[in-house]
Amino acid sequence: MTATIIDGKEFAARVRAQVGTHVARLKADHGITPGLAVVLVGSDPASEVYVRSKGKMTVEVGMKSVEHRLDAETTEADLLALIADLNADPEIHGILVQLPLPKHLNEDLVINAIDPAKDVDGFHISNVGLLGTGQKSMVPCTPLGCLMMLRDHHGSLSGMDAVIIGRSNIVGKPMAQLLLNDSCTVTIAHSRTKDLADVVRRADIVVAAVGRPEMVPGDWIKPGATIIDVGINRLDAPEKGEGKTRLVGDVDFASCVEVAGAITPVPGGVGPMTIACLLANTVTACCRANGLAEPEGLTA
Ligand code: NDP
Repeated sequence: MTATIIDGKEFAARVRAQVGTHVARLKADHGITPGLAVVLVGSDPASEVYVRSKGKMTVEVGMKSVEHRLDAETTEADLLALIADLNADPEIHGILVQLPLPKHLNEDLVINAIDPAKDVDGFHISNVGLLGTGQKSMVPCTPLGCLMMLRDHHGSLSGMDAVIIGRSNIVGKPMAQLLLNDSCTVTIAHSRTKDLADVVRRADIVVAAVGRPEMVPGDWIKPGATIIDVGINRLDAPEKGEGKTRLVGDVDFASCVEVAGAITPVPGGVGPMTIACLLANTVTACCRANGLAEPEGLTA
């Protein structure tokens, strides 16, 4: 069997188009432009790339994009003061503080200072609690993108066995909550899980969010299972030239594609969906702030 490739790039383009249509309607019918503020502290090269591409895509869908680039030495008080200003700004509907923050800043404190209604990353403790109790919340972008792809591929996920490898607050745990809310039977595996191969073999859905290149081989996969590969790992690729690298996921694509029913590639799978879901969350937050109908299918 060769798996269906779930094309995250194409799916993300569709989500962005849907967001763009809704933004145009908000402008035309209500004179409202959704606004997203991204805060970057320091100059981590990977974060710089993410922030640039977030800003570009925000503008492409017709939203207002604001970037605040702060010095690596910025104090917690100054960062909290900026967040308070953005919380109070009626033209800003989404606030994202790019992680990781420099070590001297307390990430939990900073994230929990964001107005939960503007917390488009879905990391504020209130949103975590709302998601955990099945209430309307802002949903973390990467797991939301994974859920959208799974629903699109399967329709109903009810009764399916899902195994998530990884228990981080930004991917593994919210992913588990979303799949539980969709009536999957959910197992969360992590570095202390015994017999991981056997656990994964039971799964109809495998979500790999580990950060270990090509860790999951094809012989761990139940024939026909759906694999969502969240991992982004950069490996040296001397075959492409000196100093060149290539991206791989947490699953061994070559062997898994022969066994699975469907699989997301890396690159071109979960990655593009994450930014598309950030834009979706911003338009959702804007609609909620103004008491307007939310676009359908863009949240959990
Ligand atoms: P974390 O490092 O926060 O979490 C990794 C998880 O994997 C931990 O729960 C850890 O277990 C578990 N783990 C580590 N080693 C093993 C092992 N040998 N067996 C089983 N479980 C293991 O990572 P993130 O959740 O932040 O990210 C995971 C991956 O997803 C990374 O590659 C990251 O780059 C990528 N990512 C991709 C995004 C996208 O947009 N596509 C967005 C966010 C992340 P324990 O808790 O026991 O230590």
